[in-house]
Amino acid sequence: MTSVILLAGICTYLVITPAKSVNTAAVSRAASPPVSVVANHYSIDYPVFHNAEIDPMLKNYASSQVVAFVNSLGKDRYDPRNRMELEYSLLHHGQQFATVLFTQHEYVIGSATKTSSAQMTFDLKAHKKIELKDIFISEGDAQLAIGTLLYDYLKQYAPHELSQEQFSKLLQFRLADIQDFSVGSETLTLSIRPGMLGDKARLVAIKRSLLDDVLKPEYSKNDEGEDVPVAASYVISERPRPANQIDPNQKMLAITFDDGPGNYTNRVLDVLKRNRAHATFFVIGRQVAGRADVVRRTVNEGNEIGNHSWNHASLPLVSHDQLKHEVEDTQRVIHDVAGYTPVLMRPPYGAINSEVAAYLQSQHLLPALWNVDTEDWRYPDAQAMYDRVMQSARDGSVILLHDIHPTSVEAVERAIPALVEQGYQLVTMSQLEQYR
Ligand code: ZN
Repeated sequence: MTSVILLAGICTYLVITPAKSVNTAAVSRAASPPVSVVANHYSIDYPVFHNAEIDPMLKNYASSQVVAFVNSLGKDRYDPRNRMELEYSLLHHGQQFATVLFTQHEYVIGSATKTSSAQMTFDLKAHKKIELKDIFISEGDAQLAIGTLLYDYLKQYAPHELSQEQFSKLLQFRLADIQDFSVGSETLTLSIRPGMLGDKARLVAIKRSLLDDVLKPEYSKNDEGEDVPVAASYVISERPRPANQIDPNQKMLAITFDDGPGNYTNRVLDVLKRNRAHATFFVIGRQVAGRADVVRRTVNEGNEIGNHSWNHASLPLVSHDQLKHEVEDTQRVIHDVAGYTPVLMRPPYGAINSEVAAYLQSQHLLPALWNVDTEDWRYPDAQAMYDRVMQSARDGSVILLHDIHPTSVEAVERAIPALVEQGYQLVTMSQLEQYR
């Protein structure tokens, strides 16, 4: 470690000797030899990344801290007992990111020792300091994703640590509720401001892959490197079970989408997520493997997947072998891609007879019909579909739509927020059956 000691007289400016040049191959991973300066009123350390843009920022930060400190001393600047120390640790140093934690101690005659800290995260590849909002595609989606993760996680693992009011605040989570952040090899660690998760600021470490749909692609990948373990209050490394927030005394309805997954399913999932709403997707077995990611997302975000046969066959018209294929292969493929086995079966065309019903029962499947048919396949008109959904909505409605028609998707992009606005809880079919 290179260390430069300057024996300066009383000085209010900073003298720094550059760190000696080092073998860059050896530097790529290990913390580079830092700059270390000791003078009359201060000793400072800061890291060197051998990066023409970033290194001056660190140097400027250290010098401005010294200047501010020395200026704050006023006439006491001549008393050598007044000192500040600036030290740092690298919370993470990988190929893409580095997070530097500076800790500053100030010793001033007649005052208590003052300690403060500052954290800076750099994108070493883009040669810049990054703010939290820089790593997300959209601030709104990021707030929603982080708030939802915190809400679900705490509801599942620490339901009594927060008041109902604090839980409600999490539903309105803002990036401004995060005081500081650091990026690790696999994690994003957030310091949540006091009042949100308790009286004090709390550190929450979130596995970055849980936020990969809101992080910019260059920031969602793991960043191999060295980490200092952080003592987080909460470590969210797996997706929590979506919290059940249903109030049985409020009106609720179930929107159901048949014949997917398709090209537009992700748009439906987006609008559901933005509105904390859920729906049921009756999928066609042969389309599942090709859109496994969509099916997984559907389940991960708290929606329900139902069976809509392998090939959209009218079940009373097929042989028993064919019936088994239509139903059981669909159960299997959904389980294989999403780790989830449906409990609801929507027979294509609503066609069912007593034999099919008995067979479904033997497979632990409940037939799931509807009470509002939008006939969206017949009238591909977004405005008409929107009107129909809004006019037919009642407490207990089960609304049939198809997420394979762009006009239907356009209609629900407007209808879902409008229904939530009217006080409807948009629940899955299984939830509706539980409460209605
Ligand atoms: Zn269908």
